[in-house]
Amino acid sequence: MKKVLILAPHTDDGEFGCGGTIAKLRESGSEVYYVAFSTCEKSLPENLQPDTLKRELLKATNCLGIPKKNVIIYDYPVRDFPKFRQDILENMIVLSRDIKPDLVFMPSIQDIHQDHHTIASEAMRAFKMTSILGYELPWNNYSFRNQVFFPLNTSHVDLKVAATNCYESQKGRNYLDENYIRGIIRSHGVQIGVEFAEVFETDRFIIK
Ligand SMILES: [Zn+2]
Repeated sequence: MKKVLILAPHTDDGEFGCGGTIAKLRESGSEVYYVAFSTCEKSLPENLQPDTLKRELLKATNCLGIPKKNVIIYDYPVRDFPKFRQDILENMIVLSRDIKPDLVFMPSIQDIHQDHHTIASEAMRAFKMTSILGYELPWNNYSFRNQVFFPLNTSHVDLKVAATNCYESQKGRNYLDENYIRGIIRSHGVQIGVEFAEVFETDRFIIK
């Protein structure tokens, strides 16, 4: 894949959803772009700087080998994405035109978080000419179709863990627990007879 675009509703969704796969794709020479639609200022504890999550995002994406120029940050208010659906769609249409990605990663279309679901449904409109894979955020998925697997090696897994560890302001969130992250990757590895893997839903796949 030459150009890969990661759509993250909030900072850290992309690292959790496909951090190992980003590391693998970067290693094989893909150019990766990361778009975060909110830095969640409203969700930060009051004693932290408003740009804390932005700084942590830049550290995390750097850790995965994504250059700063390929990180795009929008400022939609957390939990209110459905109100801005049309603006988000228009942002995505511009991203599609300017970047021309070969592959887009987004949250699962079945994700029940309103911001995640908005990103997934608008992405299916904006990127219908592009291969689209949906990533897993298990605490927001009532169900998930295990369809497309990316086998990972230890270094990909370690880079994913290192990237998620960059979110110091989010320490204590149970889904950022290292054992949980490593356990999911190991579990998906067992499903396809390898050591580690990440898994995705496929909403559109174009074989060139
Ligand atoms: Zn999120």
